Amino acid sequence: MRERSRHARYDTVAPKTAPMDDRIRSAARADDADGSPGAAPPMARARFRFHGELRDLLPRAWRDALLERDCAREATVKHAVEALGVPHTEIGRVRVDGRPADPADRVPDGVTVDIHPRGLPAPGAPRFVVDAHLGALARRLRLLGFDCLLARHDTDRAIATLAARDARAVLSRDRELLKHRSIERGRYVRGMRTDAQLREVLDAFGLRAHVRPFTRCLECNGLLRPASLAEVAARLPPGVAGEPHRYTRCDGCCRIYWDGSHWRRLAAAVATALAEPAPTP
Ligand SMILES: [Zn+2]
Repeated sequence: MRERSRHARYDTVAPKTAPMDDRIRSAARADDADGSPGAAPPMARARFRFHGELRDLLPRAWRDALLERDCAREATVKHAVEALGVPHTEIGRVRVDGRPADPADRVPDGVTVDIHPRGLPAPGAPRFVVDAHLGALARRLRLLGFDCLLARHDTDRAIATLAARDARAVLSRDRELLKHRSIERGRYVRGMRTDAQLREVLDAFGLRAHVRPFTRCLECNGLLRPASLAEVAARLPPGVAGEPHRYTRCDGCCRIYWDGSHWRRLAAAVATALAEPAPTP
């Protein structure tokens, strides 16, 4: 009975296989652990001003302030910004006393540093890895056709290593994870609800032109391919085969999908996500 209720809910059936996301664990290997600076004494005092949506990541009292801080002798802009709670994955254009600078540049004494949010990535659909707390977001991204691994049980280091190896952007609500220096691209997800998170990621990564709904398995991230009724009939719950459906099959976990009632609700969710841009603060 338990199996049958699951079929009805997801319009899908699957064999008992390990989820593909378990591959993540095998990607872990020795790597540089962190990017924190050494404990050098403060040698430079600088002012920091955050722009745009970076202000979301600051305590409310800091958002409109020019933050004056001491920096360690070897501190770069990246280190100084992360010490203020903003992961380097969020950093875009940087100016030091009005002149363009790089996040890897050291912070001279007495300067004012302006930090802007990161812009859209290069054209094309990026691949993602999300941490265990964003499982619902991972399923929604897969629903729209995006390659998105879910790191269910993995350490920060394993996630960072996988992201670097596969050139995946990391989506997380864990700032410490996003500060890992192996992570090149990522985003601290601001939204609390899945729908808002999805719209936020669609906009932040410019994904709307790359949506391919119902082409990827919600469970394991594998690609779906069309399947005939004859191919899947033996594994369908009672009653489904008698209805006219379109079937797809996951090449990763062999799960079967069809356009039943739950699938139609998901189609409505897709339409909603694509129709509504993320609200601007
Ligand atoms: Zn699958």
